[in-house]
Amino acid sequence: LFVSFEGVDGAGKTTQVERLRTYLTERGRTVVVTREPGGTELGVQLRQILLHGGDIAPRAEALLFAADRAQHVAQVITPALERGAVVITDRYLDSSLAYQAGGRELTAGDVRDLSMWATGGLLPRRTYLLDIDPVLSHGRLVHGEDRMEAAGMDFQRRTREEFLKLAQADPERFLIVDASAGIEEVWHTIQTDIETLLGA
Ligand code: C5P
Ligand code: MG
Repeated sequence: LFVSFEGVDGAGKTTQVERLRTYLTERGRTVVVTREPGGTELGVQLRQILLHGGDIAPRAEALLFAADRAQHVAQVITPALERGAVVITDRYLDSSLAYQAGGRELTAGDVRDLSMWATGGLLPRRTYLLDIDPVLSHGRLVHGEDRMEAAGMDFQRRTREEFLKLAQADPERFLIVDASAGIEEVWHTIQTDIETLLGA
């Protein structure tokens, strides 16, 4: 089973990923938790460049994220799925559609094609979109600003809107979760869904 978490910065993805990891592990599942960018050794280097590399042209940025994802699928996700693990990733290709197409305003079709090429077309069975107004979520961030977070509130708003459009266009894969709710409430929604998925 392959599951991804998406949403703007500060939506609570990492917290819910950890809840899901604990829940599944306690039920005897083999779980691999990973993230983008930075899920591999190459990815850690790409993440450093992406977050702190100064001026990067939008197309160059999209290619770097795609490179990170290609390595991630080849080295981590596909091997884990082949071993029968549940793979949970904190961000995947919808982030590229939301940030590089929605945020940086590249053509959505190009970004999608690039990502599908990078991943060989591998899509999650379920994507949890933790949806929240970026004005609210930005206040949750404790660390200093990186290059992306410095992009500003309009950028974050476009990103959120793009995530919502993606989710509405594919209700089979996405579950939209109201991430302005408390941690327990968000978790309850995810838990109910994952039980259905595993039972089915
Ligand atoms: O979620 P995380 O903090 O690890 O993401 C790192 C940064 O990269 C975030 O600020 C996010 O906005 C940005 N990002 C992006 N495009 C992606 C994935 C992440 O701009 N495809
Ligand atoms: Mg961040």
